[in-house]
Amino acid sequence: MLFYSTKTKSLEASLEEAVFRSLPQDNGLYMPIAIPRISPEFLEGIETKSFKEIAVEVAYTLLADDISRQDIEKIIDKAYDFEAPVKQITPDDYVLELFHGPSMAFKDFGARFMAALMSYFLLRSKKEIKILVATSGDTGGAVAQGFYNVPGVSVTILYPSGKVSDIQEKQLTTLGNNITAIEVYGTFDDCQKLVKEAFLDSELTAKYNLASANSINIARLIPQSFYFFSAYAQLKKLGKPLVFSVPSGNFGNLSAGLLAYRMGLPVEHFIAATNLNDAVPRYLENGTYQPLPSVETISNAMDVGNPSNFVRMVRFFDDDWKRVTEKISGFSYNDEQTRKTMREIYGNANYVVCPHTAVAFRGLQDFRQKQGGDFTGVFLSTAHPAKFIDLVEETLGKTIEIPERLKLLLSIEKVSIKMDASFYSFKNLLMSSL
Ligand SMILES: *Cc1c(COP(=O)(O)O)cnc(C)c1O
Repeated sequence: MLFYSTKTKSLEASLEEAVFRSLPQDNGLYMPIAIPRISPEFLEGIETKSFKEIAVEVAYTLLADDISRQDIEKIIDKAYDFEAPVKQITPDDYVLELFHGPSMAFKDFGARFMAALMSYFLLRSKKEIKILVATSGDTGGAVAQGFYNVPGVSVTILYPSGKVSDIQEKQLTTLGNNITAIEVYGTFDDCQKLVKEAFLDSELTAKYNLASANSINIARLIPQSFYFFSAYAQLKKLGKPLVFSVPSGNFGNLSAGLLAYRMGLPVEHFIAATNLNDAVPRYLENGTYQPLPSVETISNAMDVGNPSNFVRMVRFFDDDWKRVTEKISGFSYNDEQTRKTMREIYGNANYVVCPHTAVAFRGLQDFRQKQGGDFTGVFLSTAHPAKFIDLVEETLGKTIEIPERLKLLLSIEKVSIKMDASFYSFKNLLMSSL
């Protein structure tokens, strides 16, 4: 598969280059030049396939020019020892549970695949790389888990101090070895900006083979399309069109859904559900993209003022606003609405959701109300509620079960490097010790 830069059509890159560079030198985003279609025969019989079989087929459809089917099978096998089940929540709505991986958030799907793909390339080239990643909460944990003790890889994670949950912070700061956590006195947008600047800094790129693991990396986008296919496989027997509601921050998840759609997955509509960081819903409303500084909410993994995948999302429609709005509807909610929805889902379905998932559910309900129509709704559950235990317990007024894995984490001491949000400090750190 070949990629072009969203800023310069003629700037082409191979898969390996796109994965390790992460960003083209013109600071655009990599996009596939051509999107191959999934075989109709495979779609026809998809309901009998396992998650791994679906992942192999989708990955092979995309990457057949780069990697043999046998090696793709190995990569998928290494990446996924967890699934993406759907569960019924209302007569017509299903939750797609994406939190059964090691960090208990959907980002495991991207991070594990990316780690397996990078080690496949690194083993062949014998290179060493340094991964820089900014996290608003869950990316860091997934990436840390994905790359922990992977030979030839060191990982530096930047996260906004005091703006991630206890469990999220522990997931970033307790592994050690090849994983280093930097606690930045600033916002997620600051962290993201530092990473972007590092990639454009000639001294740093001369000293290190830098790679990024943010959702801008194409190696994270591709695997996130697998579970859209898997949801379809599980719900196909209902015989109704599918509408996916995606709780969004950087819009990597929704962009992956669009990739699946462009590969031929039958999707009736997408819902871009956000918290008050609503640059995309506003764009869908009035055609003007006007990012604003991020504001803090209880769905903190979606506190993104200027979503990095926006450019990619609209590029799937050749930047044509009208066409974007035919396929995607936007909804945004404040914290009070989010909490109310968490209580409603618990009250009506006896099902506990994290705040991000609640935003997606609410978007689906409002879309149904506004649009009508007979469809099966799928809302993506992006994190296990226990990752936000204080907030969830306080909102529902009850105690919830913490999985063993997370309990253990909480007892371990965190190790982080504290830093202000200036690029000067970040560069000094990278040039000296890390
Ligand atoms: C990262 C994250 C999101 C947002 O996903 P994007 O791909 O950045 O839009 C939503 N929910 C949770 C729990 C997350 O960790």
